[in-house]
Amino acid sequence: MKETRSTCPYCGVGCGVIIESQGPQITGVRGDPAHPANFGRLCTKGSTLHLSAARPVALQTRLLQPLRREQRGQAPRPLSWDAALDEAADRFAGIIERHGRDAVGFYISGQLLTEDYYVFNKLAKGLIGTNNVDTNSRLCMSSAVAGYKQTLGADAPPCSYEDVDHAELIFITGANTAWAHPILFRRIEDARRAHPKLRLIVADPRRTETADVADLHLPLLPGTDVALFNGLLHLLLWDGRIDQRYIEAHTSGFEALKATVRDYTPKEVARICGIEESALLQAAQWFGESAATLSLYCQGLNQSSSGTAKNAALVNLHLATGQIGRPGAGPFSLTGQPNAMGGREVGGLANLLSAHRDLANPAHRAEVAALWGVTDVPATPGKTAVEMFEAAAEGEIKALWISCTNPAQSMPDQATVRRALERCEFVVVQEAFATTTTCAYADLLLPASSWGEKDGTVTNSERRISRVRPAVPPPGEARHDWQAVVDFARRLERRLPQRLNGRATLFPYETPEQVWREHRESTRGRDLDITGLSYTLLDQQGPQQWPLPEGQSRGAVRLYSDGRFPTADGRARFVNVSYTPPAEPRDARYPFSLTTGRLRDQWHGMSRTGNLGRLFGHVPEPAVQLHPQDLLRRGLKDGDLVYVTSRRGSIVLPVQGSEQVAPAQAFIAMHWGEEFLSGSTSTGERARGINALTTPAFCPTSKQPELKHTAVKVLKAELPWALLAAGWLPQEQALRAREELRAMMRQFPFASCVPFGREDGEQDRTGLLFRAAGHEAPPSEVLSRIEGLLGLSGAEVLRYNDARRGQRRAMRLLPHGAKESRLHAFVLAGDISAEAWIRTLLQDELPAQAYGRLLLVPGAKAPVAVQARGRQVCTCFNVSEAQIESTLAGCEGNADGRLAQLQQQLKCGTNCGSCVPELKRLVRMQLSAA
Ligand code: SF4
Repeated sequence: MKETRSTCPYCGVGCGVIIESQGPQITGVRGDPAHPANFGRLCTKGSTLHLSAARPVALQTRLLQPLRREQRGQAPRPLSWDAALDEAADRFAGIIERHGRDAVGFYISGQLLTEDYYVFNKLAKGLIGTNNVDTNSRLCMSSAVAGYKQTLGADAPPCSYEDVDHAELIFITGANTAWAHPILFRRIEDARRAHPKLRLIVADPRRTETADVADLHLPLLPGTDVALFNGLLHLLLWDGRIDQRYIEAHTSGFEALKATVRDYTPKEVARICGIEESALLQAAQWFGESAATLSLYCQGLNQSSSGTAKNAALVNLHLATGQIGRPGAGPFSLTGQPNAMGGREVGGLANLLSAHRDLANPAHRAEVAALWGVTDVPATPGKTAVEMFEAAAEGEIKALWISCTNPAQSMPDQATVRRALERCEFVVVQEAFATTTTCAYADLLLPASSWGEKDGTVTNSERRISRVRPAVPPPGEARHDWQAVVDFARRLERRLPQRLNGRATLFPYETPEQVWREHRESTRGRDLDITGLSYTLLDQQGPQQWPLPEGQSRGAVRLYSDGRFPTADGRARFVNVSYTPPAEPRDARYPFSLTTGRLRDQWHGMSRTGNLGRLFGHVPEPAVQLHPQDLLRRGLKDGDLVYVTSRRGSIVLPVQGSEQVAPAQAFIAMHWGEEFLSGSTSTGERARGINALTTPAFCPTSKQPELKHTAVKVLKAELPWALLAAGWLPQEQALRAREELRAMMRQFPFASCVPFGREDGEQDRTGLLFRAAGHEAPPSEVLSRIEGLLGLSGAEVLRYNDARRGQRRAMRLLPHGAKESRLHAFVLAGDISAEAWIRTLLQDELPAQAYGRLLLVPGAKAPVAVQARGRQVCTCFNVSEAQIESTLAGCEGNADGRLAQLQQQLKCGTNCGSCVPELKRLVRMQLSAA
């Protein structure tokens, strides 16, 4: 067995992992105890990485060879890499010659490695001469970039994770850290245990798992963050808790802001934000009293039409109180993606250049052109993510190259995105997974290497550069992203030699390290100078923070400790910001504020995590959450199907009451794209997942779209005919069945298809759950097809069929041992009211021989012996909510004592710890009920 140190490919915490492998097979993963981001810990997502990469099952999802589609809508056919890249180069060169350089665009990803990012950026801005290169980091971090630059002068988070250990107050705002950055949250939990006086304030419209454990939760109305921060500053000023000496010595612009925040009285702020005045006063008091305040923030601030203003308003608070550049203090933006920071470092966005240079700055453009050996870098700003797809939809951009991202799931306003992909003359998708929706729009598919195979570097939220190392070779003909780009670029150079300036090539790289060295040189003298760093040093001494200039042996733990900032006068700048409402406020027609966010066990569009049934144990199916009062008012109950409709589109999904969501607000997890949630709309079009609803409105400065707020209406969907089908499948058949079921989803007004099961080595189980609803029963061949895909064919299948009433049932029981049989697959069509217990029989693999006939009776009540386990809370040890509740009933003592007894008995929360916040909530609920 081989062990390889690498980095988790999911969130911006950037945990170190040790990959275990045998030959081409990844066999295990564990946290790297030596990595300073996690010290050996991993969350549910990181600790299941090896399962998502395990061959041969994982290979079913991978793109293994280049594929070309003759015509849209047809199946693609294989071709060689040479033929694929020649065609790509011909098509790009032809479009550039006919329509100009800005007729092509590159849409890349914060999940690429820094080396991949660097060559993409050079290809677009250097070789082709277009700034049309943007990334899904635009949907994630661009407001943080703009906020830092406006206030502190550079895109550099000033803090480190170790500041958590030194803080007296942690202010989490616009972030559900417990779910989105779990290992950082474990560190916060540790710090609270070690320092009982450490306070936690959480500002979030939802009472998330993070908010639930806070000392103070500020449930502000969506989008009102600037009013909250200005209101806090108003109170700090009023109470004399600002740091006048720091303001005078190290900042500029305070007087103008002071005049603005005068209007943000507690009463007015409480009104705008929808919070109690007393809570605001309490928050200001704690902020003012704290010797070290650390703010942690993420998409709640960034994904907003006033994202930059929100970021700046928060930084203003820290500057006004001198809470920056000291241990435990500072505004610390958490990156969503594993290498959003690396992308920013190489300037891989439409308005940036290498090493934090600005496209708008002629001197910076000249520096980069000299570094690359081209005559110039064009001054015209490139199209940012939303603009790029809008331009493609309008026919202005004619060729798109999409790498390592799934815009047909993740971009807002999917109608425009799909129009763009359909209208483009030529779409290249460079991707590891064949199953993403975007692949269906590609003219050319290029297979990419993935986690466990890639080689390069990434930078996490605390500016720490880690090595990503290959444990196994890429499968099939998959290639590293940087390699494919270099091969394409060299071909394009032969077709467009004008920008080579007499050089043989702009892309002379044979290894990722050669690419990285050029990037390193570009940072010389810049705020992120890493000229003292090398792959060798990373290999010998482990991950390092930037800056780390030549001559130094260690990177900077925190920035601006001397009070000097990278601005013209060395002073940080207050930005005079005022509150503006979301671009699309809720109104009488669209009375709900829809917000989106992450699930604990899923990652983005789920192209990787969505293949593991065990990661659906916590949240098994898509749903829209509303406050129970809103359900009551609308005559809805849990599980009813509703239309959620915005000004751009409509989707159908089950409703779920949740006290976490405030009245007049709605929540849908960001992950539910067309791959898992589909159907056809009333006009016969395909439903396009959650982002059919979201708005393309963006922040005018950062151009980051407002994914956190959309005005929607919620109406009951009258779809009387329902279907629930589920079955265990041999692993080698599961993916094909899933893909075929997914293709069938569009035949219903509503349909979802998700896996379930336990992939844990010895007891690997793969199951599929297909749910659909319609106005009437579909033709019987459709139902027969679903049954066939789930193995419900043959004489031994128990059946009930009443076509007149639209009722149909099929059950397959298989012998288990000498006396027992278990339910292996079922279809309930028409009346599915028995779904809970029949599903329990199947998923919990309970003895089923006693229920043969009962299984076929529509509306049959649950037998006493079949008790639903309920939702899974602990993924590592497969512990359900029902088990936890019944065990807690026998526990005694205070909350900590009961939690300890619970963990001792069930082991829940004793491995990755991701479920600990939820366990604490269940303990509190039990205590208060008692
Ligand atoms: Fe990966 Fe979880 Fe660590 Fe994020 S917190 S890097 S998802 S293991």
